Amino acid sequence: MEYTSKEVYEYISKQLNDKIVEWKKCRLSWQEFPIYQSDLDFYDKVSPTFDVSEKFVEQFFEKNSDVKNNFEYKNWKLKVKLPTPTLCPEEREAQRFVFRNENHLYRWKCVYSWKDIITTISPDKDYIVYDENFRWGDKWEPKKIDQVKLDRTFFDTMNEILHGTPIWGKFVQKNENSDYVNITGNSKNSYMCFASYDLNECYYVQDWTYSSNCVDCLFADYSEYCYDCVKINHCYAVTHCDSCINCSNSSYLYNCTWCHDCFNCSNLDNQSYCINNKKYTQEEYMKLLPTLKPSPIERNIIWCNIKDSDNCIWNNIVNCKNCYFVWTWTECEDIRYTSYEIQSEDCMDSFCHSKHCIYTVSCWVSYNCGFIFYGNNLNNCRYCWNCDDSNNCFWCNWLRNKEYCIYNSQYTKEEYNELVPQIIAQMIRDKQWWEFFNPQLSYYWYNETLAMDYHPLTKQEALEKWYKRSDYETPLPHVEKNVKWEDLPRQWCGIIKEKKPEILEKILNYAIICEVSKRPFRITKQEIDFYVKHNLPLPTKHPDIRHQERLARKDPTIMHLIHCDECGEEMLSVHLPWEWKKVLCEKCYYKSN
Ligand SMILES: [Zn+2]
Repeated sequence: MEYTSKEVYEYISKQLNDKIVEWKKCRLSWQEFPIYQSDLDFYDKVSPTFDVSEKFVEQFFEKNSDVKNNFEYKNWKLKVKLPTPTLCPEEREAQRFVFRNENHLYRWKCVYSWKDIITTISPDKDYIVYDENFRWGDKWEPKKIDQVKLDRTFFDTMNEILHGTPIWGKFVQKNENSDYVNITGNSKNSYMCFASYDLNECYYVQDWTYSSNCVDCLFADYSEYCYDCVKINHCYAVTHCDSCINCSNSSYLYNCTWCHDCFNCSNLDNQSYCINNKKYTQEEYMKLLPTLKPSPIERNIIWCNIKDSDNCIWNNIVNCKNCYFVWTWTECEDIRYTSYEIQSEDCMDSFCHSKHCIYTVSCWVSYNCGFIFYGNNLNNCRYCWNCDDSNNCFWCNWLRNKEYCIYNSQYTKEEYNELVPQIIAQMIRDKQWWEFFNPQLSYYWYNETLAMDYHPLTKQEALEKWYKRSDYETPLPHVEKNVKWEDLPRQWCGIIKEKKPEILEKILNYAIICEVSKRPFRITKQEIDFYVKHNLPLPTKHPDIRHQERLARKDPTIMHLIHCDECGEEMLSVHLPWEWKKVLCEKCYYKSN
């Protein structure tokens, strides 16, 4: 794992005029990390409060005198002061990511109907898995625990609830004709799409929103007819493009904005008809286009990719304000220690689309919540899993339209406000308060989650950090007829369709043996139609390998303090000077273009 250096933290403090009040040592990595003044202000803002009487507080403080300093009572409100984290930002991110399996799907049986289902839970686990179509019906009930036992750890009780309550095969909502998708909603006619929203006819895309007709892409918003792209925004008909915004009808671009009809270019702004960064007339370009082949282009100048944003530090930030220690964010304000999301406000250590939240993984349209794993429209909830449309719940799992529940059992408002502070007092004693969920609670093995994609660990390293991992592998599917990748026709699909259309029909009945992993994979009719329409070749690699290759193309996430190659000023960049011809600061970058 890579970690942010002390000098980068200090540089941020200087730049944002944000005082470092304390240096801490991470309990997993032993790396030093700072607590900024603004962190403390934020913790104070999101500290939970409970309406209680003076009489209750007197007894409460007497009974819990050993942990009294963690509480504050003012104006009939008991506030729990949040401690600062014990893990550095990178380890905190890995702990959140270990709860998210986006793209590992398995075949299994629904425990209720015994029908075959596709699920994110691998068959080597002992959870009760149900077909997600039962989710909105009454054929199941979440496990309840009526008696809160203060002598048992809360993580242990939660584990009992998690194993006693059905888990839905996949996390999906309001999709049409899209069975093979996960953590995806509001999408139509899509296949193998993950962590996406509002898609139409998309295949093999991940972290993709408000888009249609895209194939083999990673990280994008508002794009159409794109193929094999990584981190694009508002693009149309582009192929093999990375880090581009508002580009169209182009191929093999890197870090370009407002360009159309360009081929194999980098760092261009508002250009057209360019090949290898050289300008041509429209006629010349159109004549040359069918003969062009991509060649490695010198990506020689680059700075941090921040567009239309104010007071932001880090990389891949579009339309944001006051965000730092974040990567890949769009339309956000006052966010820190988080990665790839859209439209959030005032959040820390979160992975959400919400306001005023801390330590969340997949928590949508929620307010003032903490420690949420899959939540939707929640208010003032803490330590909740898979809950929807609920307020003031604590340690709950799979509740809908509920208020004042603890361990899925109903309490009155008064009971709730008096019981939760007592539970928190015990959690403080058990050193379980204000840490994210114990990774042992995750439904998933480390090696099938986002944590593995972004912070890869060997088996030994994962076990040393107390993560669960498994050697389970899906057995190779039995295929009747297969074809080796090298025997596929090499021409572009438009040409095959014209000359030998029967080959494209035939290929639908075969599994292709992957060039790299040798695992068989199939191509669907819809994919072939896309390749024909955009005149692309047939894929020769398994979708998992294609995804891994796209992941490797994304920018790194760790910042380094370096000097601008032009003016020599200190600057932060995710790119190291020796990996590029030139790394420039924002001012010099725009001057040179
Ligand atoms: Zn400079």
